[in-house]
Amino acid sequence: MAIARPVRALGLAAIVMWCFFLWQIFRPSQINNQYKSFERDPMMDSTGEPEGILRPAVGGNYAPGPGSDRINATLLALVRNEELQGMLQAMDDLERTWNHKFNYPWTFFNDVPFSEEFKQKTQAVTKAECRYEVIPEEHWAMPPWINKDLYEESVKILKEQEIQYADMISYHQMCRWNSGMFYKHPALATTQYYWRVEPKVHFFCDVDYDVFRYMQDNNKTYGFTINLYDAPASIPTLWPETQKFLAQHPEYVHKNNAMDWLTDKVRRPAHNAKANGYSTCHFWTNFEIADLSFWRSKAYEDYFNHLDRAGGFFYERWGDAPVHSIALGLFADSSSIHWFRDIGYQHIPFFNCPNSPKCHGCVKGRFAEGADWLNQEDCRPNWFKYVGMG
Ligand code: GDP
Ligand code: MN
Repeated sequence: MAIARPVRALGLAAIVMWCFFLWQIFRPSQINNQYKSFERDPMMDSTGEPEGILRPAVGGNYAPGPGSDRINATLLALVRNEELQGMLQAMDDLERTWNHKFNYPWTFFNDVPFSEEFKQKTQAVTKAECRYEVIPEEHWAMPPWINKDLYEESVKILKEQEIQYADMISYHQMCRWNSGMFYKHPALATTQYYWRVEPKVHFFCDVDYDVFRYMQDNNKTYGFTINLYDAPASIPTLWPETQKFLAQHPEYVHKNNAMDWLTDKVRRPAHNAKANGYSTCHFWTNFEIADLSFWRSKAYEDYFNHLDRAGGFFYERWGDAPVHSIALGLFADSSSIHWFRDIGYQHIPFFNCPNSPKCHGCVKGRFAEGADWLNQEDCRPNWFKYVGMG
């Protein structure tokens, strides 16, 4: 009996430790349950400005009008007249947190002319210049090689697979324009960088440096905030078409590419299988800050033309997000792709919400709002694993 008590105590302690160990592994993390507890959740790291900000030597002149230290860049929005209220709200957020300090011009694109009301009300929320551009018919129209009957049949199949917007032809046109047309608009002919903004998005953090200058000074090609999985049924032949293209043009693949990120099948094997070899991981392109010369490169132009001829913008529902992301992952130096962890951002239902005193109005580290399964859609852990946090 004298020995049994310490043995029992040791047994109990072992059980408690074992339970604690299991709890550490399987407990959902407080906010983002896509991170297992043994993985670090970088969104909770204290976040400041990135390294490599070289401000103009003396202050910098960002007053509205010409003769300033602004570089060659614009804020860019494709938007419908009916989305005026949402556009004003998004502009308001970006002006408050960033652009009132830098006064970069806004360029709005539409497939029909902007209304006078749209022009007046958008110009009223910024000191910067606003430009209103109509998209040429030949950039927006369904290309003549698309077979209308085949398109109609394909839409039925996509709808059965519950692909959102499959039966909205304008959505297919929008994705194609954002993939291969926007940078060909004459209004952007002499512009080098853009920041894409959609109606209704939110910006939460004060950003006190010129992000376009940051891109230029640090040779960045592309900046993102959110990385997601896509619906494989919207892109079953995108990766196979990409492989056909690469077989013809192996010379376009950058030696420091992100192929492992594009083809990961560890984290979500079923997605990779249904997308025929592509992880479906993509930069969420409703936010992008990028150098237009990437889209104007021969590699991207040839790639886009190959995809366009293959027809998947209409027979499937290829989004500009996977198309941009695959091209970047293959043809860009992955070290020129930057995660803007310090830019607090939301497009429903996902967030990038940094842990910084400069951020207000979002929950630090929260990724999704609404159903819990949405947290599983975060693909950033893969970007960090294969490429890093830059
Ligand atoms: P989602 O983010 O994928 O749900 O798609 P959205 O409806 O937000 O569309 C993406 C972007 O394209 C938004 O900026 C829309 O304003 C814009 N957009 C979509 N369809 C059209 C269209 O037919 N005409 C114009 N002018 N803009 C469009
Ligand atoms: Mn949107």
